Amino acid sequence: CFCELEGSINDCGCEVDTVDHFNNIKIYPRLKSLLVKNYFRFFKVNLNRDCPFWPDDSKCAMRFCQVENCEEQTIPPGLMEHGDNHPFMKPTAYKYSEAAQHADCSDADDFSSVLGIIDTSISDQAHKEFELWAKHDQAEEDFCIIDENDEGSQYVDLLLNPERYTGYKGESAHRVWKSIYLENCFGVQNRSNTFSEYLAQIDLHKMCLEQRAFYRIISGLHSSINIHLCSKYLLSETKDFLSPQGVWGHNIQEFKRRFSPETTNGEGPHWLRNLYFIYLVELKALAKAAPYLRRENFYTGIVEEDQETKMAINDLLSVVESFPNHFDENALFSHSPQGVRFKYEFKEKFRNISRIMDCVGCDKCKLWGKLQTQGLGTALKILYSEKLNIATESGLWEKPHIEIDPIFRLKRSEIVALFNAFGRLSNSIYEMENFRKSLR
Ligand code: FAD
Repeated sequence: CFCELEGSINDCGCEVDTVDHFNNIKIYPRLKSLLVKNYFRFFKVNLNRDCPFWPDDSKCAMRFCQVENCEEQTIPPGLMEHGDNHPFMKPTAYKYSEAAQHADCSDADDFSSVLGIIDTSISDQAHKEFELWAKHDQAEEDFCIIDENDEGSQYVDLLLNPERYTGYKGESAHRVWKSIYLENCFGVQNRSNTFSEYLAQIDLHKMCLEQRAFYRIISGLHSSINIHLCSKYLLSETKDFLSPQGVWGHNIQEFKRRFSPETTNGEGPHWLRNLYFIYLVELKALAKAAPYLRRENFYTGIVEEDQETKMAINDLLSVVESFPNHFDENALFSHSPQGVRFKYEFKEKFRNISRIMDCVGCDKCKLWGKLQTQGLGTALKILYSEKLNIATESGLWEKPHIEIDPIFRLKRSEIVALFNAFGRLSNSIYEMENFRKSLR
C-alpha cells in the first residue's frame, strides 16, 4: 500500500517505523489527555484581520467553516481576569548554582527583574525605551506574527471547534497554498499558470538543504491538514439521535485521491513522508525547550488542575527527551555568511506565512492554520533563537542553555500553539495507521 512508508526520513536519518511506534504508543496517548486541559484548550486569536495581500475573495458559506464562540463562564478564572499576561504565567525562576548566585547579575532570573535593576539607575523615559527595545529584540526572534495582544483577539475553545472537513476548497484554498509554497522561492521562478504546474517545477535535488527543509516542513503541514479532513470527513448529513451533527468519520477514497501515487503523479507518498519530517522538527523543539517548560506554571487559576497539568507535562517531556534519534537542527544554517543569510530569509518567509493565514477564506481552517503556523514558528524560534545558540569558532552552535537564559521567553499563546500544533502532527501519524489498516 502506498501509505506503508519504509526506510529513513529524508534529511533526518531516522526510520519511519521508529517514529510510528514512538508516536502511537508513547506520545499520542499522553498528548490526547493533556490537550483537553484548560490551559491548552483556550487559544487567543484574531480571526478578523484583513488579508494584506489580496482583497478577501470568498468567505466560506459552509456552516462547517464557522467557529463557535466560547461561553464566557467556560474560560478559566485565571485567564478571564488576567488574560495571557498574568505574572504566574511566567516560569518560576531557574535555581542558580551557589557560585552563580554570588555573581553580579545572577538575580536576573526574569525579564522584569532585569528591568528592576535598571530602574534604580535610569529615568522612566529610558526605562520605557529599554522596554521597547527589549520587546523589539524579542520580536526579532519570532518566526511568526502573534495575535495574542491584538485588540481583535478572542479566546476560542479548541475542543468546541475540532479541525475536520469543512468543504473549503477551490480557487481560494489553492491561492493560499500556492502563496505559502511560493514563499520558498529561493531560486524557483513562478512561470506556471496553475498550482500543479508550479508544484511540478519544484526539484528537490536542485535545492540546498535549507530550501528542502522549508519545502518539507510546509508540505508536511499540508499533509497533516489534509489527513485530518480525510479522517474527520462528513460522510452523511443525515442527522439522528446518535449523530445530531451528521455522520463524521474516515473517508478512505478521499485519502487515496489525495495521497496515492496514481492520482498525485507519484508524489503522494513523498508528501506523507514530509509529515514525519515536520514531526521530528517540532519534537526536537520540545526536547530542547524541556528545561524551560518544566519551570512553567501552566496557570489557569484552578489550582488542582494546574498541578495535574504540570505533572502531565513533566511526564510527556521525559518521554520526548528519551527519543533516540532527534532531528539535528545544527545541520541547517551554518555560521557562514550564507548560512546567516538563509536563516534571516527563513525567518522572514515564515513570518509572511503567518500573514497569509489572514487570507484563508474559512474561519475554522484559519483558526487551525494560524494555530499550527504559530506552533511551528515557536518550534523554529526554540531551535534557532540567537539567544540560545551562540556560534563557536568552529562554526557550530553551542549547546543550548535555555534553562538559564534570562531573556528567552515563550508567551502563553506560543506554548498553547506549540503543544497543540505538535498534537495535530501526532494525531495525523496516528491516523495514518488507521488508514493503513483499512487499505491493507
Ligand atoms: P489541495 O490540498 O488544495 O492542494 C493543492 C495542490 O497542492 C494539489 O493539487 C497538489 O498538487 C499539491 N499538494 C497537495 N498536498 C500536498 C503536500 N502535502 N505537499 C506538497 N504538495 C501538495 N479543508 C478542510 O476541509 N478542513 C480544514 O481544516 C482545512 N484547513 C485548511 C487550512 C489552510 C491554511 C488551507 C490553505 C486550506 C485548508 N483546507 C481545509 C482546505 C484543504 O487543505 C484543501 O485545500 C481543499 O480540500 C482542496 O483540496 P485539493 O484536492 O484541491 O488540493
